[in-house]
Amino acid sequence: MSDRKPLISGNWKMNLNHFEALKLVQELSYQVSVDDVEEVDVSLHPPFTDIRTVQTVLEADRLPFHLGAQHCHHEDSGAFTGEVSPAMLAKLNISYVLAGHSERREIFGESDALINLKVKAILKYEMTPILCCGETLEERDAGQAEAKVSGQIVAGLDGLTSEQVTNMVVAYEPIWAIGTGITASAEDAQGMCAVVRSTIAETFGADAAAGIRIQYGGSVKPNNAKELMSQPDIDGALVGGACLEADSFARIIQYRLAE
Ligand code: PEP
Repeated sequence: MSDRKPLISGNWKMNLNHFEALKLVQELSYQVSVDDVEEVDVSLHPPFTDIRTVQTVLEADRLPFHLGAQHCHHEDSGAFTGEVSPAMLAKLNISYVLAGHSERREIFGESDALINLKVKAILKYEMTPILCCGETLEERDAGQAEAKVSGQIVAGLDGLTSEQVTNMVVAYEPIWAIGTGITASAEDAQGMCAVVRSTIAETFGADAAAGIRIQYGGSVKPNNAKELMSQPDIDGALVGGACLEADSFARIIQYRLAE
């Protein structure tokens, strides 16, 4: 058993206005107890327009969830229409920021080099990056999954210290499993998370590899979370669709109780 505390993160994507956000957080707070979060860290990643509302309710009601963001620019400020800086997110007491989600890479053309700048900018403001990586189905079928994911890890973490990497989070998310209802088998997910950890060991040393938390993401649901989470190299889950409903996200957070 590792002593890495699992992290379950809910990526709301472009869903829920700030009224709906408030309702979801309140419903979640009725279903998740303080005991649950002694065992597991939980982060919520709403759209930017909801963050201030969610921050206010988390702080006013002392709810045991960390606040997260889905994306940021890498500069502190400037002429970047439509963007939000890590400095702005830090002011909202954000703890975790996703970097390099496959939807950002594929739809918005974010490169490994740009994602590396974002990871550094997030760290500069003392927030924790969740660096996302994962292969397409074509790459998997061509036997390229390991090389693709290792390459994303090496490029995304370029220039960081071992200490910085130790405290980070990586989310392994096979693209073919995101939003499709198809989950990687626990064996495949474990195998790829082990590749991520060994890549980190080779590049940043054994302590960084032992400390970094690696999430699996891709159609995580209440009925598959326990098996995925019982794998030795899986330290949490990045959840999309199933985090938009309090009951299903609460049951993922409480995966230990599943049959
Ligand atoms: C995601 O958005 O990162 C994700 C894994 O989505 P889903 O759980 O819906 O597959």
